[in-house]
Formats: sequence, C-alpha cells, structure tokens
Amino acid sequence: MTNTLTIAVSKGRIFKDALPLLAGAGIVPVDDPETSRKLILDTTRDDVKLVLIRASDVPTYVDYGAADIGIAGKDVLMEYEGDGLYELLDLKIACCKLMVAGPEGSTTDSARLRIATKYVNSAKRYFADQGKQAELIKLYGSMELAPLVGLADHIVDVVDTGNTLRANGLVPLEHIADISSRLIVNKASMKMKHAAVKLFVDNVAEAVAQRNPE
Ligand code: AMP
Repeated sequence: MTNTLTIAVSKGRIFKDALPLLAGAGIVPVDDPETSRKLILDTTRDDVKLVLIRASDVPTYVDYGAADIGIAGKDVLMEYEGDGLYELLDLKIACCKLMVAGPEGSTTDSARLRIATKYVNSAKRYFADQGKQAELIKLYGSMELAPLVGLADHIVDVVDTGNTLRANGLVPLEHIADISSRLIVNKASMKMKHAAVKLFVDNVAEAVAQRNPE
C-alpha cells in the first residue's frame, strides 16, 4: 500500500488550526477527535488516516516511519534530536514565541542562572550562544509555578497572549524564537511514496498561501 498516507497530529489547538489546511488537500476526518476516543481516525479519503498523539511525540512517530507525515510545533522540533525526517513547510498556524520569562525587573545577567523549562535543549543552546552558564531544570508543565516557589529564577516557555505569565506575576523578558507548526515528512516515505507525498504537500502549500496572502 505504497500510496496510503498516515498523518500524525496532536489534539487541541494544532488540530483545530490544521483542519482547514487538511481540507484543502481533500482530507476531512470522519470522526470528531474532541468527542471520539479513537486514536486512528478515518478520513473522507480512503488512502489517508490521521493518528492522534501527544504534540511532543509527533516527530518520533514520523522519524521512525510509523507515520509518513506529521504536523508539529517548531518548539517541539527544536527539541527533537532524530534525523529521519524532513521539515518541508511552515503551516503558519498555532503561532507563538519561545521566550525567557521571569519576575518583572529581573534579568538573566546573574552569574548563576537557574531556568525551569520543558525546552531544555533550546534553552541550553540559547544561553550557551550568549556565553551564559545556566542550570536547567526539566519540567513537563506549569512552568510558571517554578519562579513563584523558588524552584528557578526564570522559565523558558512558549508564550501566546502572555495572559498565563501575567496571571502568575511574570513577564516575558527575552525572545528566543518565533514558533509555528510545520509539516514534517519521514525521509523514507518521501522516497517510497513520493507522488502521494508531493501531491499532499503541494495541496497544503496552496491552502497555506490562500490563507496568508502576501
Ligand atoms: P498565553 O496565551 O501566553 O497565556 O499561552 C498560554 C499557554 O498556552 C502557554 O503557556 C503555552 O503552554 C500554551 N501555548 C500557547 N500557544 C501555544 C502554541 N502555539 N503551541 C503550544 N502551546 C501553546
């Protein structure tokens, strides 16, 4: 079945924003992922299935070829270390910024920085590029809590409106990267299913261009 395509995507914000782009490629899920408990969704195209997984697992599924294609945030891709995938397209959805945040008036100039984050690799690179030594504390969520209880001085997290930071008495301090969701493709699928992958990517690229006129 070299022309069957499996697309990995996470539930929630990215899925919702990706739906119109998938529709542009003629792909509409048959079940509603918000109400269905299914992890593999059929679509209106017999040759396309969607697999629903955690956002941070999308690159892994695509890297190992368990999914041919994935939709993953740049924040997740910047952390991922495998090399079995291509990043082909900026989908310009789920846009936000990867930032250093902390208490108002604080700086990252101190000699011993303690940073709590889910994004350990990106944070390490960012501070190393500035010649700053940072102790990184890996967390899996609710990063905003860390400075409030003295676990860390600052956090590195994705920020959209900044409301979550503000609600916890923190402010964005330094911009690390602009984030949006990207289309990724397994390297072997790119060769073995070239025609199907290329058609899908071209259709999605057109849908992205239509939604983001120059
Ligand atoms: P905010 O709008 O800044 O209050 O965002 C609240 C939280 O939503 C952040 O702490 C992130 O964990 C999450 N978030 C916002 N935008 C994105 C995104 N594009 N992708 C993944 N997580 C996001």
